[in-house]
Amino acid sequence: MTMSPDGWPLAEPYKTKMIEWIRLLEPTEREAALRRAGYNPFKLLAQEVYIDLLTDSGTSAMSQEQWGALMRGDESYAGSVSFQELERSVGDVLGFPLVLPTHQGRAAEHVLFRALAHPGDIVPNNLHFDTTKAHVLTAGATPLDIVIKEGEDPEGDYPFKGNLDLERLETLLRDQGDRVPVVMATVTSNNNGGQPVSLENLRAVSEIAHRYGKPFFLDAARFAENAYLIQQREAGQASRSVGDIAREMMSYADGCTMSAKKDPMVNIGGFVALRDEDLYRRLRDFGILYEGYATYGGLAGRDLAALAQGIREAVFEPHLSYRVAQVAQLHATLREDGIPVMSPAGGHGVYIDAGRMFDHLGRDVFPGWALSVELYRERGIRCVEIGTVLAGRDPGTGEHDYPPLDLVRLAIPRRVYSQAHLQQVAEAARRILLRRHDVPGYRFTYEPPTLRHFAAEFAPLG
Ligand SMILES: *Cc1c(COP(=O)(O)O)cnc(C)c1O
Repeated sequence: MTMSPDGWPLAEPYKTKMIEWIRLLEPTEREAALRRAGYNPFKLLAQEVYIDLLTDSGTSAMSQEQWGALMRGDESYAGSVSFQELERSVGDVLGFPLVLPTHQGRAAEHVLFRALAHPGDIVPNNLHFDTTKAHVLTAGATPLDIVIKEGEDPEGDYPFKGNLDLERLETLLRDQGDRVPVVMATVTSNNNGGQPVSLENLRAVSEIAHRYGKPFFLDAARFAENAYLIQQREAGQASRSVGDIAREMMSYADGCTMSAKKDPMVNIGGFVALRDEDLYRRLRDFGILYEGYATYGGLAGRDLAALAQGIREAVFEPHLSYRVAQVAQLHATLREDGIPVMSPAGGHGVYIDAGRMFDHLGRDVFPGWALSVELYRERGIRCVEIGTVLAGRDPGTGEHDYPPLDLVRLAIPRRVYSQAHLQQVAEAARRILLRRHDVPGYRFTYEPPTLRHFAAEFAPLG
């Protein structure tokens, strides 16, 4: 049984006021749904899914305070009261005086890189999230991942696998500094399992970037989970509040991009927050062009109001300690059952190493994809492959561009599923492990030329 920090069994720090029914389809119905979807979980209909762990983005449950704020949204085109609430909230929780709302995180990246990145530039980051990488590339620049080597090892229990390699950063800035427009860090690091970056590392990255005259920005979608994991794992931080730690994290940065669909728990929204008035003006011009006027940025006033409230709730400690414990519990159960998982547990999900779990399947028949199909077949669970199918083909050779691992991500939406739901997930994985040698690989029956995972169709082998 998972225990709370006070030694009592873990329980949700909220009660239910409104419910949404979910239904587990019969096995024959699930099989038919899989066939219809071309064995692609993205093509399943929501009502065909029992427990949806496809993503934690935009899928969290809002609080009564957020729903209340939604009703009070001010829809004024310019200078809306809801925008002012957002400014206050960003100022109080993150410490940034300037905020430019956008319709979601990638739009914030678009605006930032339009202004900062140019052809031939290099943008360092611990691990670029997919959309960040795409925006850097679209600007004609090169995304450079400089996570520490522990961050590439799926097994070791190093507590801060999101940290940046300071030596590589220093070398890059010393040798090619004129090509670097901005230094980035993603908190938490989504691409290697929601792993945190330590305060010590953020402080050092900030010092190095500023010594070379470079702005330092955080990709802050999961800033609160990062702050909580610092409180739990970093020496000397245990007695501080998460709010305090979050503000210190931000104090090292010149600004951040935010996908508010993650920790701030809204269904849609994002922003760029920053300190420098001149840079703000440059971003604002692009914001107005692509997103809408500077005080709404592609969002309704009510969205801004719910977001202003969600930022405050993101650092609420009972929420974070329950959430992270829930993720850790699923991680621990899977590990005890002999299922290979990335360790340590991160903030927002559990990543199964399907390549190791299905060592009877070659990488060219997509073991990660096979597990994502099997979890639906076994118990109506939807999740996402982060492996060979997602990685696509090398444009030069046309071969699969094999990533280091074939993973499956079980992303946990915030405040949505109970421990009992996650036990269903663990049990499904356990049963699949027992019959793993009967699990087939897959081949494409339709392979789109780009972003193939979204629309591809497959057939099972054998
Ligand atoms: C989700 C995400 C983004 C992109 O945000 P969207 O709101 O999906 O556009 C950027 N960075 C990280 C780390 C993310 O998790």
